Amino acid sequence: MTALLNFIRETILIDGPISVERYMTLCLARYYGSRDPLGSAGDFTTAPEISQMFGELIGLWMAEIWRLMGEPPRAYWVELGPGRGTLSSDALRAARLLPEFLNGLDVHLVETSPVLRNMQKEVLSGTGKAVEWHDSVRSLPDDGPLLVVANEFFDALPVQQYVADKGQWHQRCVGLAEDEKTLRFGLFPSSGVTLPLPPKEGETCEVPASGIALMGELARRIARQGGVALVIDYGYAGPSYGDSLQALRHHAYADVLSMPGEADLTTHVGFQYLADAAYAGGTITHGLSTQRDFLRQLGIDVRAASLAKAAPAEAEAIFAAAARLTGEGRRNMGELFKVMAVSSPRLPEVPGLARCDANLLRVS
Ligand code: SAH
Repeated sequence: MTALLNFIRETILIDGPISVERYMTLCLARYYGSRDPLGSAGDFTTAPEISQMFGELIGLWMAEIWRLMGEPPRAYWVELGPGRGTLSSDALRAARLLPEFLNGLDVHLVETSPVLRNMQKEVLSGTGKAVEWHDSVRSLPDDGPLLVVANEFFDALPVQQYVADKGQWHQRCVGLAEDEKTLRFGLFPSSGVTLPLPPKEGETCEVPASGIALMGELARRIARQGGVALVIDYGYAGPSYGDSLQALRHHAYADVLSMPGEADLTTHVGFQYLADAAYAGGTITHGLSTQRDFLRQLGIDVRAASLAKAAPAEAEAIFAAAARLTGEGRRNMGELFKVMAVSSPRLPEVPGLARCDANLLRVS
């Protein structure tokens, strides 16, 4: 039995079942705090790890945002949950094309994992930029525009799950089976909670409370300080019914309850919740778009062709990576992944994404 499983078991024996949200919080802190989860030896792979084009195109998108903002002499480059630091490293390298942009950037990373902070430090040392780390967005600088990117970050935050039973939503919890050893799901007695969807018998509704709070804080800052946040993740506009909680270990699905802290836990991101929080915080929402359409708008095909021309031996791998980032179906990321941006009211349009009417997201 792992130490975390033992801790959770004892907590439940003393205090009773814990919410799925609390369970996720405990598991994710252990999981991300103790390893590098990325790459072929890890549990999952992300877009910046598939190709340098991903980070480069985002770096150039941010440079265009900076131009649209009137080229402020200083701005903050912020990445939430940077993993190995690859996206920021590729983006800042591409930004060398615009020295005035790059020179005025201060780099701030929001990362809780000490293991990944170390990797980020090493990878980003090549950029020649000083890097500052934060445990949360609350300590980010408050005196200049923020250029925030979050790739596969919101899916790694805990969510609340509710299940409809006899006409009411009940929060889903984790308790113990009769053997008092194995974890199993249950429901808390109803607290009469109202959710964006009516309680349809047997259905699940997920509420990303941490993501909502985080997006609210970010949006209030962007509304005040200027700038944008670009969010890329697998998910849906929603809210919609469904239990999307998954465990991933060594690139395969695993049981959510059997190895707490040893598998990655994720949920599909409910973008409308984030858009609502951003709207309430005073920003404008753009999207949703698919990753395929967004990267194509940003010129991934041209970039792939020019990289392939510069390194003909790599051409096949380069085109394969572009296809993985933009392709359809479950094996590719082009349609599964969605893109949303929120911007300061002083920046009413952003490249590559349509401003959304009445703050209602639709995948276009
Ligand atoms: N963006 C990276 C990594 C995604 S994995 C990529 O695309 O490759 C999720 C990242 O978020 C990891 O770096 C993880 O340590 C970090 N993370 C998870 N929960 C966090 C939290 N609550 N606060 C800050 N960082 C967190």
